[in-house]
Amino acid sequence: MYPKELKKSLQKVEATREKRLGVLPKRMSAKERDEVLQQYHPDYKPEAKRKLKVGASKGAIVPHEVADLLEAYPAIRAKDIDLGKVDYETDLLIIGGGGAGTTAALYAYYNGVKPENILIATKLRHGDANTMMAQGGIQAADKPHDSPAIHYLDVIGGGHYANKPELVAKLVMDAPGIIHWHERLGVMYDKKATGEMITIHGGGTSRKRMHSAKDYTGMEIMRVIRDEARNIGLNVLEFSPAIELITDSTGRVCGAVLFNMETEQYYVVRAK
Ligand SMILES: Cc1cc2nc3c(=O)[nH]c(=O)nc-3n(C[C@H](O)[C@H](O)[C@H](O)COP(=O)(O)OP(=O)(O)OC[C@H]3O[C@@H](n4cnc5c(N)ncnc54)[C@H](O)[C@@H]3O)c2cc1C
Repeated sequence: MYPKELKKSLQKVEATREKRLGVLPKRMSAKERDEVLQQYHPDYKPEAKRKLKVGASKGAIVPHEVADLLEAYPAIRAKDIDLGKVDYETDLLIIGGGGAGTTAALYAYYNGVKPENILIATKLRHGDANTMMAQGGIQAADKPHDSPAIHYLDVIGGGHYANKPELVAKLVMDAPGIIHWHERLGVMYDKKATGEMITIHGGGTSRKRMHSAKDYTGMEIMRVIRDEARNIGLNVLEFSPAIELITDSTGRVCGAVLFNMETEQYYVVRAK
């Protein structure tokens, strides 16, 4: 069942288990960690990346796999699509029906956009997404021993100072409100008998701020926000990945071409 290389590795682990039991490995210094990463981690190998030639992130250094995708020839040619024939007209087109897309659609609705003016187009079924697979939990500084400022420092440090500060600030400031919103909607986060939410450590956190729903946190969140989207009556086009973005004469995105995976037809969506 295991490939040959993995069997060798397993034998090594088993042969040294006795010796390692009860030994607490020495904590590595930041320099030692960097050396190991430079030597073994694919993200740290310069030959694993290249400069992106096109798009909004042109010039950014990205893994070859990402560059190959973004620089690939389009799946359709301009002459295959009649942009004058619009299949869906909407104010707000959201591409992707995972946690981020569904939350964006719901907040647009809470902020006054009518459900009939919101369209989510997603590749598979609504909620077939990485969000569904997140197990560990979701972090928010909502306990008295913690604060968004401490959360901010943990994220900036954990991100080796490469994060965009304004995005991190938004994330840590919004997080407690999002947990309370989830709870109001019915996400069943783990709680003590007193009703207080249980929070545990996550990687790189100086405070216990990870909120979990057993080991299926993402699935539980997705279950609830998808229900909310259905109850409100948001429009969702499933099995309809966006394959091209449509831009106006100023370069602003104003729609997308979708590919219906069931009928194999293309659809044009015009958005504001
Ligand atoms: C196994 C696993 C465990 C994880 N555990 C955790 C955890 O414990 N805690 C944590 O904070 N994070 C965790 N993560 C990361 C977290 O799940 C993701 O960062 C987060 O869910 C991303 O949400 P999203 O909505 O941006 O993307 P997704 O949930 O991936 O949603 C994107 C959606 O867009 C759709 N889509 C893609 N391309 C197109 C297209 N061209 N047109 C239309 N639709 C498209 C996809 O099908 C999908 O439905 C984990 C991830 C994985 C995979």
